[in-house]
Amino acid sequence: MKKMWVGGQAVDGDVGVAPLVSVNPATGQVNYEVAAAGAKAADAAVKVADEAARDPKWRNMLPPARAAILSKIADGMERRGEELARLQMIENGKVWRECQTQVKSAAATFRYYAAVCETTGSEVTPARGDYLSMSVYEPYGVVAAITPWNSPMTMEAQKLAPALAAGNAVILKPSEITPSTGLLLAEIAQQAGLPPGILNVLPGTGQQVGAALVEHPRVRMVSFTGGTESGRRIAETAARKLMPVALELGGKSPHIVFDDAPVDAAVAALAGGIFEGSGQSCVAGSRAFVQRGVYDEVVKKLSAVARALKVDLPDAAGAEMGPLATLAHRDKVAGMVDAARAAGAQILAGGARPDGKQLEGGAYYQPTLIGGIDNNAAIAQQEIFGPVLCMIAFDDEDDLIAQANNSCFGLASGVWTRDYQRAWRVARALEAGTVWINTYKQLSIATPFGGFKDSGIGREKGVGGMRLYQQPKGIYFGMGQLA
Ligand code: NAD
Repeated sequence: MKKMWVGGQAVDGDVGVAPLVSVNPATGQVNYEVAAAGAKAADAAVKVADEAARDPKWRNMLPPARAAILSKIADGMERRGEELARLQMIENGKVWRECQTQVKSAAATFRYYAAVCETTGSEVTPARGDYLSMSVYEPYGVVAAITPWNSPMTMEAQKLAPALAAGNAVILKPSEITPSTGLLLAEIAQQAGLPPGILNVLPGTGQQVGAALVEHPRVRMVSFTGGTESGRRIAETAARKLMPVALELGGKSPHIVFDDAPVDAAVAALAGGIFEGSGQSCVAGSRAFVQRGVYDEVVKKLSAVARALKVDLPDAAGAEMGPLATLAHRDKVAGMVDAARAAGAQILAGGARPDGKQLEGGAYYQPTLIGGIDNNAAIAQQEIFGPVLCMIAFDDEDDLIAQANNSCFGLASGVWTRDYQRAWRVARALEAGTVWINTYKQLSIATPFGGFKDSGIGREKGVGGMRLYQQPKGIYFGMGQLA
């Protein structure tokens, strides 16, 4: 039984709260059990974090010292990279290569915020009278970071590094499906010199511990990544508490191919944009809009790519796509495809569980292409969070913009064209927090990331990613003679 992490040590779960059972989605076998928190443990952890946040040792620690700890956390993550990658792989089924890449980028996120912490401080405002004024940026105190299962390390690093750089104490509530990378990260952080109580990890369900953290009066800020409906509930509680929230939510991103696009490159990007991580990516390009002149060619080539993709155990040599994160999620995805089929959609590729003895117990689903639908079809409007791409033809730019923006989501988008003026026009017209032009899914830690519309509130990453966890304060010094 793995334990929780509070106040710099491993602790037992709440009495009466059932432990989490971690299941390997590649095989269906149980990995281990993990102690889980409820409202009681949440309250105890918040008290510990609140005290640690107020301790002058952390509160007055100079930015270079905080930055040094963040850099050492990055070193520790790289040193224990194989362990972290393996924990992610056995908990969410991502292929080994992707897990390794995600450890590296999570470590790089800690290094980036070490630099931001050291170089981004208070500002002196130009004088406007007989005073000097300054803007200083103060931590909130206790921040709750609530994360999903699809890319746990990436999400944890994206929240913990800036929140710690900003001087907060954090309680991480990882997804019940992927509790372990966060627990190991806390241990690494402690060894890197982070004071006890500054980073605490409470595995458990959203209902039992997530909601208790959000409600807690001493939690002063919540940073959440997950589904739109959970985000909405958290925002409702936050509104009552008048507490700021950062919400990174779901998506149904349009991936657009114009007639003049380099078709082979676009097809490769369409495939990567939806099949990487078995489509369990918030920025998955799940609606392909293809201009009519190249629609048939793109469908033919993409169907061939989808059929040839190697679906296998995540650590099998050459595996390109692993399972979905749970059997229940796989069944949900399969159910959505079946409903589309029943409503008259055409299954152009996939649409079933793959064959193969070694895949029998796992949560696998074939790379799937759906045609014969328009953008109003349920399958084109709902977030599937699986390897399922909706193919939709369009005629001209106006038609495309109207269809692409006809979604409650606005997280990401991609445009393939050789005409850069058109690329610019379309990029400005799309209602999305990220637009990729002639590339897809490239992500820089220095560039703000977040969603329009139901895809979220606030932007992570960049210097603003640290400011998200700080409240500005104006301090005025009167410069007149004191009597
Ligand atoms: P989820 O909303 O079910 O759960 C996310 C986290 O929130 C989990 O830790 C869960 O326990 C917790 N939670 C759930 N309800 C809660 C509540 N009422 N109060 C407090 N905590 C609660 O999402 P998921 O299924 O884990 O993840 C998939 C979703 O995450 C998809 O919609 C995906 O698009 C989204 N996502 C978004 C981004 C982004 O950056 N925008 C990144 C990754 C995933």
